[in-house]
Amino acid sequence: MALIVQKYGGSSVADAEKIKNVAKRIAAAQEKGHRVVAVVSAMGDTTDELIDLAHKLSERPDPREMDVLLSTGETVSSTLMAMALKALGHESISLSGAQAGIQTEPLHGKARILSVDPRRILQELNKGRIVIVAGFQGITKDMDITTLGRGGSDTTAVALAAALKCERCEIYTDVEGVYTADPRIVPEAKKLDEIDYEEMLEMATLGARVMHNRAVELGQIYNIPILVASSFKNAQGTLIHGGKAMEVLNKVRGIAHDENVAKITIIGVPDRPGIAASIFEPLSKANVSVDTIVQNASINKITDLTFTVSRTDLARAMEVVKPVADVIGAKGVVSDNKLAKVSIVGTGMQNAPGYAARMFRSLYEQGINIELITTSEIRITCIIDEARVKDAVRVLHKAFELDKG
Ligand code: ASP
Ligand code: MG
Repeated sequence: MALIVQKYGGSSVADAEKIKNVAKRIAAAQEKGHRVVAVVSAMGDTTDELIDLAHKLSERPDPREMDVLLSTGETVSSTLMAMALKALGHESISLSGAQAGIQTEPLHGKARILSVDPRRILQELNKGRIVIVAGFQGITKDMDITTLGRGGSDTTAVALAAALKCERCEIYTDVEGVYTADPRIVPEAKKLDEIDYEEMLEMATLGARVMHNRAVELGQIYNIPILVASSFKNAQGTLIHGGKAMEVLNKVRGIAHDENVAKITIIGVPDRPGIAASIFEPLSKANVSVDTIVQNASINKITDLTFTVSRTDLARAMEVVKPVADVIGAKGVVSDNKLAKVSIVGTGMQNAPGYAARMFRSLYEQGINIELITTSEIRITCIIDEARVKDAVRVLHKAFELDKG
């Protein structure tokens, strides 16, 4: 009798009818003889609605109160799910993140999980109950409620699967799995049957919003295979795992894109030791995460420094950078918030030449200008004009023959 952790996203539990359907699926897993823990997200757009509500009352809502408020979304869905299961004749109990033993660091809005003590969950399972856990939340050692960052219920599910030593974690959502590109942009995109943790991490971080990237990271660390599948259909889904028998023939596995990109360039920066630190230290103190950084080769000890941040962080980043640029004697600061990232991802690219060239030529043939380029071992990313990102995704999907499956 296997112990499984399932997770159902907000759109899968958006109304009473959908909760009933999910309850039937959870019940069916138990009827097959499994012991089941199900993690649920808040119903539909509840989290967004609660955030809007808070902003009607305060420009900067108190982070502690905000976390208590947002955690109620998942509290509601977990209790309703337990009721729905009981109505189907299945013993069930809902647990908050705290009751499920999820302890986090004291960082409101994006707390990391420090430990999971699954004793209460196990006690309930031993009574024959289905345990429904409210996703996205935990508690600090001082008993304050925290949330794990937007989309964090995935992370709750994988953390529980690790703590309960499950064979795998199942994430049920409104898409059928992980695709070679966003199917809304590329209708020929193919669903992948399997994908490596590392590839998925790159895809998740680069904008393939199927799963929370921290959940994938946890899966990799604890070696918990993660199945991503539809909660509406009985289709096969995508298995994210660390196995070696991957389909390496087609070495690019997917095209990821992200439209939330802005660029800042500091012009005429004196090239001397300590300058980069004096710019990036205050940014990190202001909690702005910097992505791509490019420093030009200097001419006459003067250089330009360009980096990207998410668009939502641009205003804050400019506030930090402008005074620093003055202090170090730079000529000026310019920004552009109409950019996007497009990336090719695949472990098969390691040590295989030619991928970058093919990517650049394909973009050139579409008349798409590349502003910045960054790479990792299994990824090449180009920063381009946001207006061309859909074209870029389509042309790269074709150029790397991802439409051929
Ligand atoms: N309800 C939270 C959100 O919308 C967490 C989640 O859905 O995973 O971000
Ligand atoms: Mg949600």
